[in-house]
Amino acid sequence: MDCIFCGIADGTVPSKKVYQDDEILAFHDINPVAPTHILFIPKKHFGSLAQTTAADAPLLGRLLARVAQTAAELGLTDYRVVSNIGADAGQTVGHLHIHLLAGCQMAGMI
Ligand code: 5GP
Ligand code: ZN
Repeated sequence: MDCIFCGIADGTVPSKKVYQDDEILAFHDINPVAPTHILFIPKKHFGSLAQTTAADAPLLGRLLARVAQTAAELGLTDYRVVSNIGADAGQTVGHLHIHLLAGCQMAGMI
């Protein structure tokens, strides 16, 4: 499968890593839209959150908890957590990822 984030997960595509364990990877977005913009992915390929099921809940829980843990380690108190599903929502990479955004004013849209 030709998936850029699977390539980042297996190390064949370089990235600026923030956190890694056997099932989760966090790395800096290549085109940040906020002073802090980190992507969190499961190393296992899911096309998006829409391709997950209740069986994936433990992994998804650990993924979300890792976002909070990393934010705390970076000293962030105010941040936004986003996952885009589908083109209309702005998804451009077909591998489940969570954006951690911080360092600028984001209130307003939702
Ligand atoms: P989406 O638009 O799918 O919600 O988010 C995809 C994100 O991945 C975008 O913010 C984009 O800048 C980032 N991105 C795309 N390709 C790469 C890459 O090769 N490396 C890194 N670090 N980020 C990427
Ligand atoms: Zn993938």
